[in-house]
Amino acid sequence: MEPRSLATEAVHAGREDLAGLGLHAVPLDLSTTYPSYDTRAEAARLDAFAATGELPAGPPVYARLDNPTTARFETALARLEGAEAAVAFASGMAALSAVLLARAAMGLRHVVAVRPLYGCSDHLLTAGLLGTEVTWVDPAGIADAIRADTGLVMVETPANPTLAELDLPAVAHSCGAVPLLADNTFATPVLQRPLAAGARMVLHSATKYLGGHGDVLGGVVACDAEFARRLRQVRFATGGVLHPLAGYLLLRGLATLPVRMRAASATAALLAERLAADPRVTRTYYPRIGGAMIAFEVAGDPHAVTAGVRLITPAVSLGSVDTLIQHPASISHRIVDEGDRRRAGVSDRLLRMSVGLEDPEDLWADLDGALSASERARPQATASR
Ligand SMILES: *Cc1c(COP(=O)(O)O)cnc(C)c1O
Repeated sequence: MEPRSLATEAVHAGREDLAGLGLHAVPLDLSTTYPSYDTRAEAARLDAFAATGELPAGPPVYARLDNPTTARFETALARLEGAEAAVAFASGMAALSAVLLARAAMGLRHVVAVRPLYGCSDHLLTAGLLGTEVTWVDPAGIADAIRADTGLVMVETPANPTLAELDLPAVAHSCGAVPLLADNTFATPVLQRPLAAGARMVLHSATKYLGGHGDVLGGVVACDAEFARRLRQVRFATGGVLHPLAGYLLLRGLATLPVRMRAASATAALLAERLAADPRVTRTYYPRIGGAMIAFEVAGDPHAVTAGVRLITPAVSLGSVDTLIQHPASISHRIVDEGDRRRAGVSDRLLRMSVGLEDPEDLWADLDGALSASERARPQATASR
């Protein structure tokens, strides 16, 4: 096929067969099981999947193995990330768990990771819940931390919540033969394609920008065909599948992803500029590559900002059409050890804002009021220290 632009792929990938089927909208298949009158042939198809992780040709078998609606989302996301394949899961954390389990099953239980990561990713690695062991390093320490049993290097860029950016080609180089997993949730393929920079796997919390409307939980890994086969085997055995309705909504979300990202990024850049110039704000973080996320530290009480917004919703999560703000030290990164959190740059005065599609002036008016409230709360905040 001719290479097509991202905007075109976002609307057409995973849907090329629809006109031939006499359809315009994507069909939603909610079946959990499928009829099969030839049990011998079915046994052979299952054997082939168990041996190779290759999805059986022909009709699906069981919804924990494969679903045609979700497969369309996987095809489309793989195309947007420039990957051979993608495998979807029930959430971003289910996707990361499958990656860790797939590597651990090969005897590669050691992970090298760079902070900050999303709070629960940090927790999953630090607590070793899946029997993995993590070494936390600065980017410059990656090569030295790699051992014979290292199965993965994991980074986020821009990172949640500080928006710290990494030089992905340099990081990929220091990984040598160990696969680099880049969490691309914040940038999305609209702003950054980590595989082109040398990463071997891309992780998304599809719950965020890919879905884009705050009404669907999902995760996805874009990678080469061989690792995708292993991930499908893990998914089949552990059951963290994406619901077909979620697959439908995520595919629909992808269609508007480039437009949403561009519009929200323009507003975020404007708000970041105003925050950086505001005396009530002591630090503003906005990535060089742009995007719709802003992080900032306030001089006054950060809790008064989340209590003071009226148009903006004080809530965890991000990537929706509406603007959300949250306090990472209390919410998204609460589960990370306090010392580790601070050393990773997540100060107690940091707020993280996911900019939506509202009018920038309406958003600024709301922020302005909330920042004034944080100033009024300032003496209290000082006294309580
Ligand atoms: C939210 C998030 C996750 C976890 O995704 P869920 O869909 O909530 O399981 C992972 N990485 C990043 C960067 C996130 O923001």
